[in-house]
Amino acid sequence: MVQIIDGKLISAQIKDELKQEVVALKEKGIFPGLAVVLVGDNSASQVYVRNKKTACEYVGIKSFSYELPEETSEEALLELIDTLNQDEKVHGILVQLPLPKHIDENKVILAIAPSKDVDGFHPQNVGALCTGLPGFISCTPAGVIELLKRSQVEIAGKNCVVVGRSNIVGKPVSLLLLQEHGTVTICHSKTKNLTEILKQADIVVAAVGRAKMIQGSQLKEGAVVIDVGINRDENGKLCGDVDFTSCESIASRITPVPGGVGPMTIAMLMHNCVLAAKNK
Ligand code: NDP
Repeated sequence: MVQIIDGKLISAQIKDELKQEVVALKEKGIFPGLAVVLVGDNSASQVYVRNKKTACEYVGIKSFSYELPEETSEEALLELIDTLNQDEKVHGILVQLPLPKHIDENKVILAIAPSKDVDGFHPQNVGALCTGLPGFISCTPAGVIELLKRSQVEIAGKNCVVVGRSNIVGKPVSLLLLQEHGTVTICHSKTKNLTEILKQADIVVAAVGRAKMIQGSQLKEGAVVIDVGINRDENGKLCGDVDFTSCESIASRITPVPGGVGPMTIAMLMHNCVLAAKNK
């Protein structure tokens, strides 16, 4: 019978572990702080930011909130980042993406000090991930690996198929699986024989952004399926990139949406904030 990988439960365990670490840090006089910057009034971003602040409160991290109007100039945002880079009380800086169109996201990512880049998007941290050096690993890919590890899924020597090659999910998750000694295949919109490739996969990570795209008939019996996608189905209900109903009878383990990878992203952000404070 399929085992549901419970991201809510695993993320709660991680946050409880971090809470203990924060207590120990505070005893040493280190008070972890995260600056959360939101520009504009994107309603999804507002929800994400609120959830991140709630997680901070739970773990014991002080959050410094900057909610800026949509018309904030690129220059003003870069100035704020510069101030936060120098602020001793701020160990991590998170600028919620997407930013309004008149602001260059790449410029903003580059402006954040790599030692405070808890989202792991700065090229220095991405480079560290590529070469296996210490650095911040972006939160969703780190969450995928943590879900596998804490569910006792062995990665070494396994055929891992990642569907999606974005900078924030597909590419970093592929590198992490490789680091764990998986044999990794990356698929994307130009991949010709997706089903053939999926049929070989012991571990499937879906990060496409297309509701219920991956069907049970495309999987190998007993595959482990991690669904990163967050989409709305035809009835407006939240769903992943994987068709859960047809896949659960074929897979050995599977993450639900919601309640799989989503909560792990926030737990790994908290992990990175604690790490940033410890590095200090
Ligand atoms: P992007 O749109 O940046 O990337 C999607 C990728 O899927 C691209 O590499 C694209 O290929 C590939 N793709 C598109 N169509 C197909 C297809 N038919 N067959 C194979 N590959 C295809 O998305 P993200 O990586 O940012 O996000 C992916 C999903 O994960 C989204 O649903 C998003 O909401 C969700 N997400 C969830 C998070 C969480 O915390 N749970 C965090 C981040 C994202 P190509 O490169 O060729 O265009």
